[in-house]
Amino acid sequence: MTESPKVTVKGTGVVAGVAFAEAVWVRPRPELPQGGEVVAEDARDAEFERFEAAAGTVADRLELRAAGAEGQAAEVLTATAGMVKDRGWHKAVRKGIRGGHSAEYAVVAATDKFVAMFESAGGVMAERTTDLKDVRDRVIAELRGEAEPGLPQVEGEAILFADDLAPADTATLNVKRIKALVTELGGPTSHTAIIARQLDIPCIVAAGSGLKDIQAGDVVFVDGSVGTVTTGVEEAEARAAVDQYRERAEIVAQWKGPAQTKDGHRVQLLANVADGNAARIAADSQAEGVGLYRTELSFLSASEEPSVDDQAAVYSKVFKAFPESKVVVRTLDAGSDKPISYATLEDEENPALGVRGLRIARNNKELLTRQLDAIAQASEGREGAAATWVMAPMVATATEASWFAEMCRSRGLTPGAMIEVPAAALMADTIMPFLDFVSIGTNDLTQYTMAADRLSPQLAYLTDPWQPAVLRLIQHTCVVSRDHNVPVGVCGEAAADPLLACVLVGMGVNSLSAAATAVAGVGAQLAELTLEQCQEVAKVAYESASADEAREAVRERIESYRGA
Ligand code: PEP
Ligand code: MG
Repeated sequence: MTESPKVTVKGTGVVAGVAFAEAVWVRPRPELPQGGEVVAEDARDAEFERFEAAAGTVADRLELRAAGAEGQAAEVLTATAGMVKDRGWHKAVRKGIRGGHSAEYAVVAATDKFVAMFESAGGVMAERTTDLKDVRDRVIAELRGEAEPGLPQVEGEAILFADDLAPADTATLNVKRIKALVTELGGPTSHTAIIARQLDIPCIVAAGSGLKDIQAGDVVFVDGSVGTVTTGVEEAEARAAVDQYRERAEIVAQWKGPAQTKDGHRVQLLANVADGNAARIAADSQAEGVGLYRTELSFLSASEEPSVDDQAAVYSKVFKAFPESKVVVRTLDAGSDKPISYATLEDEENPALGVRGLRIARNNKELLTRQLDAIAQASEGREGAAATWVMAPMVATATEASWFAEMCRSRGLTPGAMIEVPAAALMADTIMPFLDFVSIGTNDLTQYTMAADRLSPQLAYLTDPWQPAVLRLIQHTCVVSRDHNVPVGVCGEAAADPLLACVLVGMGVNSLSAAATAVAGVGAQLAELTLEQCQEVAKVAYESASADEAREAVRERIESYRGA
């Protein structure tokens, strides 16, 4: 290993774990042509043929890789190859070349047109623009005879660095070789983070431009739980940390629920799901039920509101996966980063602070009542432990809570609310009397407490649920919920962090809901601490002055319990 001074770059750790290996960088995207040069009229047919040959080569290459891949990876590659062959896109390129543009510039112009169209359609379509730009870059590189942008061939073990990763890149990651992902951009909900979570490899996003100080070939130590990338770490020290982490992973793999602290205090561990498929996968994990079913995710591309029967059919797939366990359904959280064409207001100046979640129902009550009818219909016959709990997103006042609760109760549904607006946490004593449960949405609670957009990579240091301001609101909510005897859960990303989970349980949280893949890690960690120790770390955390200090202090305290 090279002897170099230590350099630490800090980003946001989104998947815990440590890795030690050489850095490799995703090959850069090509510089885009600015246009301006004119292709002579008699050379334009040949220019178009040059484009078609390049696009054909790129599509063949992607299809070949699709044939060698499996499952979701194969689907993503086939879909990307399909985009390269898209007739509408080829037509737009031909038009540009006929107008005198070079093939490279015509590709840029045609792609810009499609990107603008997709962006104005919003929702899932807007998310496809990364794929379109990826296709553009591959074809331009091919036209210029440059290496295909994207993943390099990796011989030994490596840590992959990138500005951000395109879906086609992440789909073919060789997890046997790539031990961690680090990106300059992105956020906790970015594509990179989602894939890393699925693959269960350490991942850091939003590491900023400082990441460029790390060169391909540098040997680096990555710690996904604190979000640091460090060069110049002693090899023996780094290997020991990796071994220790592996031992921990073994313990996690052995863990069996139901979850409880070392002294037998029960904590319900549940899964966050988006649809029936995710619920079936969750049912195979150690999750005891569903703590957050994000219903809006099924309707992102629907242009019209589905009928009550159609909605009920969608919901019942989730209930079927957990016929005898708790399922918490969240009513439509449309708006802001999840626009739904039939429910979201257009042209809001500030949609994250706008008419989203329950607020939509103020002027469109029937939208909510039809959804509640569909949930009631789908959950017919569910009772006891499997009774259907329904919660509203973005509740801010007691009036909203009581209005929502009344509608649920009249349909035999158990009413609750998300606590994700700081006002709801502060006014929890006025809200709780109307409800049978609350669930703290730490993603939005953090965004609104810190006044920091949860999707902004530059603000990822603020949108950190370890922020003591957020922890104090959670602590307050837990105290009030105990006074009112109302169960309190956490269903934001915070519930996926094993150390933070101990803090939350110490504050009095009764259930934690996170990605199914996070459940065992949280359960294994809780099993190592007594309830009193959880309470101690909770105090350490919310009395800290910063998120980093809280995380570090809790980590040290938990280490000390292990050593004791
Ligand atoms: C949250 O805000 O923490 C939450 C769970 O809801 P979502 O991430 O869907 O906004
Ligand atoms: Mg939310």
